[in-house]
Amino acid sequence: EYILGIETSCDETAASIVKNGTEIVSNVVASQIESHKRFGGVVPEVASRHHVEQITMVLEETFEKAGMTVEDMDAIAVTEGPGLVGALLVGVNTAKALAFAKRKPLIGVHHIAGHIYANRLIQEFQFPLLALVVSGGHTELILMREHGSFEVIGETRDDAAGEAYDKVARTLKLPYPGGPQMDQLAAEGAANINFPRAWLEAGSYDFSFSGLKSSVLNTLHNAAQRNEQLKKEDIAASFQASVVEVLADKTYRAANEFGVKQVIVAGGVAANKGLRAELNRRFSNGSQDLLIPPLALCTDNAAMIAVAGSIAFQQGHRAGWDLNANPSLDLELYGKRGQIKQK
Ligand code: ATP
Ligand code: MG
Ligand code: FE
Repeated sequence: EYILGIETSCDETAASIVKNGTEIVSNVVASQIESHKRFGGVVPEVASRHHVEQITMVLEETFEKAGMTVEDMDAIAVTEGPGLVGALLVGVNTAKALAFAKRKPLIGVHHIAGHIYANRLIQEFQFPLLALVVSGGHTELILMREHGSFEVIGETRDDAAGEAYDKVARTLKLPYPGGPQMDQLAAEGAANINFPRAWLEAGSYDFSFSGLKSSVLNTLHNAAQRNEQLKKEDIAASFQASVVEVLADKTYRAANEFGVKQVIVAGGVAANKGLRAELNRRFSNGSQDLLIPPLALCTDNAAMIAVAGSIAFQQGHRAGWDLNANPSLDLELYGKRGQIKQK
């Protein structure tokens, strides 16, 4: 079985062909980071225009690298949400056009289901499984009892982890996207500033990062007033210590409470060295398997969309020609979606 995946939800234009839901045949990602850098973040209109400009070349390269054509595909999977509506529409319309022209089944995929399923390219899932999703727009703990089913047991009440990284990075005047830069600085600094840990109510698996962000801003502001120089490295290390401790601790507690067999990490912040090290340390006793994707599969790509698409395909999910971009697609509802016959 060969699935073509297409991903355009944010600022990477990506396509990939995956065999049997587990093996990458080709995987192409065109990043727009350079175009958004001067604005310090993703500008939706700029993103849509780039997707339009890039999508044809990205698809051509994907087929060329695989030595295959659309005819060889069993289905076409595309991110239908969540994300930027104009960006999503480019992928959705491209997938619809290809599927319609070649009479191929069309499958809509939830972007976060994709991030989670990136891990299936490393190892087959074992249920129940706990996924820590930490990306630019999401911070969630998700329990999966079987393929394609998602129970959100905790989520952020304000900023996402990646968003907090990017915002703090911006106040430190680091270039966009700030997450990787902060990670780098953190490795060179000392966690000598005691920023707050947002544990919330006892037993809660929810997260909050806006208090931490404000605390970093206040600390910088107060230091400036006293003409005191704080090292960026130490700010980054101290900020990261707070984020990582809360993420790792809640993940560890949830993994034990729900008696899961595997713990998987997904989303751009899964690339964070501090988080990877702390999770490896916590789960080193071997009671649960810990899966963290290689760096290239943590951030947005279309291989992950093809894998999640393969599961949906096997489960009989088909999108109609009325498939539309859904910027606020709900993950639990997506999982409960019934079988929709292709029209
Ligand atoms: P979502 O997946 O929620 O729709 P997104 O697709 O924009 O959002 P991703 O591409 O999954 O997010 O991840 C990008 C985020 O990951 C950015 O916020 C970026 O700063 C962050 N990030 C990437 N690498 C690292 C790192 N090493 N340390 C911390 N954060 C990182
Ligand atoms: Mg991105
Ligand atoms: Fe993403």
